[in-house]
This record gives sequence, structure tokens and C-alpha cells, in this order.
Amino acid sequence: MPSDQQVPSKFSGYAALQKGLEVSKYEYEPGPLQPRDIDIRVTHNGLCHTDIHMTLDDWGVSKFPFIPGHEVVGYVAAKGSEVRHLEVGDRVGYAWIKDSCHGCQNCYTGHENLCLKGYTGLITGGGMGGWQNYMRAPAYFAFKIPDGLDSVSAAPLLCAGVTVYAPLKRLITKPGTRVSVIGIGGLGHLALQFAAALGAEVTAISTSPDKEAEARKFGATNFVVGEEGCKAISGTQDVVINTVSSKNDYEAQMALLRPDGTLCIVGLPVDKITVGVLDVVFNQKKICGSIVGGRSDMAEMLQFAAIKGIKPQCETMPLSQVNEAVQKVLANKARYRIVLVNDS
Ligand code: NAP
Ligand code: ZN
Repeated sequence: MPSDQQVPSKFSGYAALQKGLEVSKYEYEPGPLQPRDIDIRVTHNGLCHTDIHMTLDDWGVSKFPFIPGHEVVGYVAAKGSEVRHLEVGDRVGYAWIKDSCHGCQNCYTGHENLCLKGYTGLITGGGMGGWQNYMRAPAYFAFKIPDGLDSVSAAPLLCAGVTVYAPLKRLITKPGTRVSVIGIGGLGHLALQFAAALGAEVTAISTSPDKEAEARKFGATNFVVGEEGCKAISGTQDVVINTVSSKNDYEAQMALLRPDGTLCIVGLPVDKITVGVLDVVFNQKKICGSIVGGRSDMAEMLQFAAIKGIKPQCETMPLSQVNEAVQKVLANKARYRIVLVNDS
């Protein structure tokens, strides 16, 4: 555990100042610590494609300036007077959700990702996420990281991990369920591991032929590339999970399903879903989406990953090289998650 350094009065990191890919050095005063908040001395951040969608304002919800980073690991450096479940020095993770109403049925059952009043995102609305030396946020959504899990491996589980674990757990109802994962990136390579651990027969669908050996190592027993590859498995899959960050042919993805199968979309390109009514109705196919996970899924996922030995495959880069790291993700060259290590 790092020493008890004083929390500085100014926090500094890398902010998106306006719409675009580049982030720049940024400093601000967080003000007085509120009773339910903690300050985290940030050590690691997974670089999720959502951080890139947000700096580009792809979804029209970004407010500038903001500091990206929502797969955050660090140590509690200070805590407000009402924080009971954490101590200074605890190693914690922080993810996409910063706050919620705490009163609706979904919050009450730990499904704050579906808060009926709408949750607050860590980096939406001008929020200051993990790409900084210290981060302030409500303690309620900080998760203790189990001792056996190193900080590099823990970071990507906090967004990518829970985002694929939660729907796979709902959709894999029996051993041998045939699951295809489309897009073997940060989310996709974890989806292969979780699906295999949940007892599925797993196919990886990729645009990158060089990912085959690793996809098989992650748990895929089948690996297909492009239209031709998909034809070979047409009409055979119970579940298809789409983790692609760019535009998709959803009709072609529906064609992979058996009757009664489900296409689950977690990838978030700016796109429209257009599929044929006849395929949906006559074959009783379903389309669903899934958004991160609440505290309940998060706790369960961290435990499941620990028991099954599921870990992301990461490359580390210093936070000061975050702009280079973003270019690498955009070029689809990351294998499979870049974790930014704080070097400030
Ligand atoms: P990523 O690491 O960049 O992986 C995306 C993968 O999509 C790539 O590795 C690539 O896999 C595939 N791909 C196909 N065509 C591509 C193209 N033209 N450009 C880039 N990639 C392409 O991204 P990620 O962090 O896993 O995130 C994936 C998506 O999920 C993003 O849209 C992100 O915003 C979204 N997301 C959603 C949630 C949620 O709660 N629903 C949570 C987190 C992230 P192959 O090489 O195998 O083809
Ligand atoms: Zn994310």
C-alpha cells in the first residue's frame, strides 16, 4: 500500500477540452470533500472504446471539458465523514456509474444501471474520470478490489468485464449453449472467457485473422472471419453478443441465430438497427441490449472472475502517452486492453 501522501488542493490529469481525439493536460480545484465522497489516488485506468466515443461526442452527451477514464483503480486517499465501508489505504475500483437515486426498485436491488430516475455517469455531464492523479467521487460506487487480483487486471473488469458478464449470465441458460462473440477487442476477449466459463460452446467472429490463436486460448472452440466464415455457422447460434465499436450489419448477425435465439448488442456505434420482421416473427428471434452492470452484477462478476481465473490480456502504457494509446485502439492494434499506468 502506498504511503499516506497528502491529497493536493489541485488535481491534474488529461481532459478532453473540446470534441476531438486529443486530450490535454488539465488542472482544477475539486473544492472541499463532501461527507459521502472519497478521493482516490489513481494508479491504473483501462482504456475503453467508450472513452473515445465520449471525447468524439459520438452520442451527443459529452460536456466539455471532462476527464475520461472509467475503468479506474487506485487507493483511497481521503474519505468524507459519512463513509463507513472504506478506509484510507484501501485499494478500490471505480467504473461507469457515479451516482443514482438510491430509492427506486432497481437501485434497491443493486441494478443501478437501470435506475428509474437515471444514473449519473462518471464522465458524462462534464465529469472528472480516472485519467488524473487523484479522482473524487461518491464512495457508494467504489468497489474494493480483492487481494488476489493485480491492479492492471482489475481495471478492465470494471467496465468491459461486467458489461459482458451481465448479459451472458442472463442468456446462457444451459451447458452447451452456442454463443458467438462478434468483435474480439477489450469487451470481446473477456466475453469469450466468461461465455466459456459459463459452460457455452463459443465461437469468435472477427475481422482480424491474426487473433485466432489467442481467441482459442480465451475459450473459443471455433473462429470465423468475415462473411464467408459467418455463412458456415448460419442458423446455428443460440446467442450472439455484439461488442463492435463501428457500424454493423444487424440483419446478417440475426441470420447466425437458431429459431428462438437472441442477438445481444453491447457495442455502441452511432447506428440504427434494421432487421427483417419476417425473420424475427417466424423464427421467434429476439434482439436486446445491455448496459454495464449495477453493484450486484459487479460484485458477482468480480467473484466469478476470481473463482474461474478470468483475467484480461493487457498491455500497459504510461498515462502521459494516452493520446498514442487512443490511436492504437482506434487502429485496432491493442491486444486486448491497454491499461494506462499513472506516471505523474
Ligand atoms: P475495442 O477494444 O476497440 O474493440 C472493438 C472490436 O470491434 C475491435 O477489436 C474489432 O474486433 C471490432 N471491430 C470491427 N470493425 C471495427 C472497426 N472498423 N474499428 C474498430 N474495431 C472494429 O472496443 P471495446 O472497448 O471493447 O468497446 C466496444 C464497444 O462496446 C464500444 O462501442 C464501446 O463504447 C461499447 N461499450 C458498451 C458498454 C455497454 O455497457 N453496453 C460498455 C463498454 C463499452 P475484431 O478485430 O475481432 O474484428
Ligand atoms: Zn467502458
